[in-house]
Amino acid sequence: MARKKRRSRAQNDGDGLEEALVSLDRSRGPLFLEKRERPGASENRPPECCQRPMNKMRISELEAIDIARAFHEKPHLNGKTDAVLERLGQAIHFLRDNRRPQAFDCPLLEDGQCMVHKVAKPIECLAYDKTEDRISHEGKRSIERRDQLNESLFGEEWDYRVIPFMLIRYLLDEEGPAIGSCGSTLRKNLQRNDRAASDR
Ligand code: SF4
Repeated sequence: MARKKRRSRAQNDGDGLEEALVSLDRSRGPLFLEKRERPGASENRPPECCQRPMNKMRISELEAIDIARAFHEKPHLNGKTDAVLERLGQAIHFLRDNRRPQAFDCPLLEDGQCMVHKVAKPIECLAYDKTEDRISHEGKRSIERRDQLNESLFGEEWDYRVIPFMLIRYLLDEEGPAIGSCGSTLRKNLQRNDRAASDR
């Protein structure tokens, strides 16, 4: 019941949700920049960090919506939902549906690559600095921003779980908040419109 309430709030406030998705995507920018500037750092997590026993990545509800939208929208992810669902089903078998960190093979890892790397990557996947084994300075700011955005949409009880349990809530949706453009597309459209307006 509580979940239904959270979902309908996001659904009823479409503009607020889209603004939050854009803002979430903006908060990834400094993390990509930080990785590009740091010697030896890679934008991608090494595949072993996305698998058991190292990977315990959790995501927020807003990030799960963003990923589900990317699968509905992005041509390179088109037709890949079934494969993700199959891996997700295998991962869930070993997990409990709670907020605790638990090790799992990420269903979004395919051929050693993150499927949502440039389009809807979870903030903590970018924020973790493997060379220093900690969350980076910019990472902490982006996580704070992500948390604020979730709270503004879902209230103080916003949810946060291992990727399979959060993603399964939205990946199969054929209506509701998971339908529409993901944050990276919305942000680029806004930029394009701003440029067109300033050229006039
Ligand atoms: S979302 Fe991508 S980077 Fe994060 S754990 Fe999964 S495959 Fe790795």
